[in-house]
Amino acid sequence: MFESKPSYKITSLIYNVLMKEQLEKIEEARDPSIIYVTDLVSCTHKRRLRQIFPELTLRFEPVAILGDLVHVGLEEYLKKHNYEVEVSVEKKFEIHGREYVLKGRLDAYNPEEKIVVEIKSGRTAQNLPREHHILQLKIYLELMEAEKGILIYITPEKIYEYEFERDKKINIKSMMESLINDQIHPRWSWECKYCIFQKICPYYTRQFEEK
Ligand code: SF4
Repeated sequence: MFESKPSYKITSLIYNVLMKEQLEKIEEARDPSIIYVTDLVSCTHKRRLRQIFPELTLRFEPVAILGDLVHVGLEEYLKKHNYEVEVSVEKKFEIHGREYVLKGRLDAYNPEEKIVVEIKSGRTAQNLPREHHILQLKIYLELMEAEKGILIYITPEKIYEYEFERDKKINIKSMMESLINDQIHPRWSWECKYCIFQKICPYYTRQFEEK
């Protein structure tokens, strides 16, 4: 038998990087005038709870680290093929007489062909493409005024890629109003089951937990 002893050298490096990123994001998210694209495709009450209990959002999970690595790896490939990666996008909206900034980050964008790419990873290839991912992509298409978007899923079993067109029915301002008024909780039938706020949320429901 080989002898081994525990080491945390690399794990602590990953931990420090991920925690620093998340703590910076927590600081930014305290600002009530900032709305993220992901907020628009989620339960509206999550944003409210995140502002009151931000530290509950901190995560250090292997599956999330694997997801990050898939993003970084595929983005490296795309960079070599005329795609810009990790493209920040933001737009100001006035709602109820107050200014809000909608912020997002595209995984990749091809400026010549005006194609937005969203990369998703996960444990399973079931029920793809997911509705909230499609909605997120369509919001990015609106923000970029791009006509074509690609959603690519990389899972241990399958790689699936879907193409979507810009959707004129997407009304970002009305989605932001609904978020600010906290009108949809939860947005998806499976959402409470995976929610980090379920222990404190009065809207938590065990109904319709299937994915
Ligand atoms: S527990 Fe459900 S209703 Fe409450 S914040 Fe989470 S997803 Fe929304």
